[in-house]
Amino acid sequence: MTVSTDSCLSCDLISGARPLPGGRIRESSGWVVEHCVGPLGVGTVVVKPLRHVVHVADLDEAESAALGPLLRRTAAAVTEVVRPEQVYVCLWSHAGGVPGHIHFVVQPIIKADMTRFNAGGPELQTAMFRAGEFPDEYEVEEVCMRLRDAFTGGDRIE
Ligand SMILES: [Zn+2]
Repeated sequence: MTVSTDSCLSCDLISGARPLPGGRIRESSGWVVEHCVGPLGVGTVVVKPLRHVVHVADLDEAESAALGPLLRRTAAAVTEVVRPEQVYVCLWSHAGGVPGHIHFVVQPIIKADMTRFNAGGPELQTAMFRAGEFPDEYEVEEVCMRLRDAFTGGDRIE
């Protein structure tokens, strides 16, 4: 299947065609970890394939094998840095009803956000998108440095 990568935000963030606050946090076995550019709070990251893949079913064997361990390590890094109540891991990738470059959102959920929006789960994410508050670039840079360190710490013990 030929897939157009024209104006793909995910590909542009990978290639550097669009600026990525915080820079690349991790690259591993065909996957990258980046800070989320959407309004889902500081410490929320995305895990996405380097290739322009728009369906989970189109991942190759190597990408599939690496996915579980990388999601776990990403959730562990986010947990270490943010100390959340829970870490949500979800994949929508369907902007405007069009299948998009898949990206798992790994979102640390803190009590303050649940209280402020009086919501949890998908309702909390919807409320955060409605509020549309994009994270401060300086805070993103800082949390990305800490996330990189958390991943590196994991390298030492594994
Ligand atoms: Zn793409």
